Amino acid sequence: MAQVAFILNDQLVPTDHPERQALLASAYRTRTRPLCGCKDPGLPLYVSKVDDGSFLVKRMPFTGPQHDPKCDCYEIPPSYRAAAHLVRKQLKKIRMAALPSFGWTSV
Ligand SMILES: [Zn+2]
Repeated sequence: MAQVAFILNDQLVPTDHPERQALLASAYRTRTRPLCGCKDPGLPLYVSKVDDGSFLVKRMPFTGPQHDPKCDCYEIPPSYRAAAHLVRKQLKKIRMAALPSFGWTSV
């Protein structure tokens, strides 16, 4: 999942911050919500504990489209996805229609 810079207790924590895991562990314990640094004001994230004991920040459900398109948390809005699906379907139809009809028959 996303490895994004986040804001915790008014401190920007970049992805390569040496204390990142410790800060996330502390946020997890205290149920403090980090904010994603891609927008001002930051968008709320949550801390998730992974099986190996490390911590990840994840975007809140349904907030993907609100993140900056360059942010790892960004997600294309569902309406765009539906539109893209329709476009792909139409393109497939056009490609099928454009196929030459040679009448493949066995000799
Ligand atoms: Zn973001």
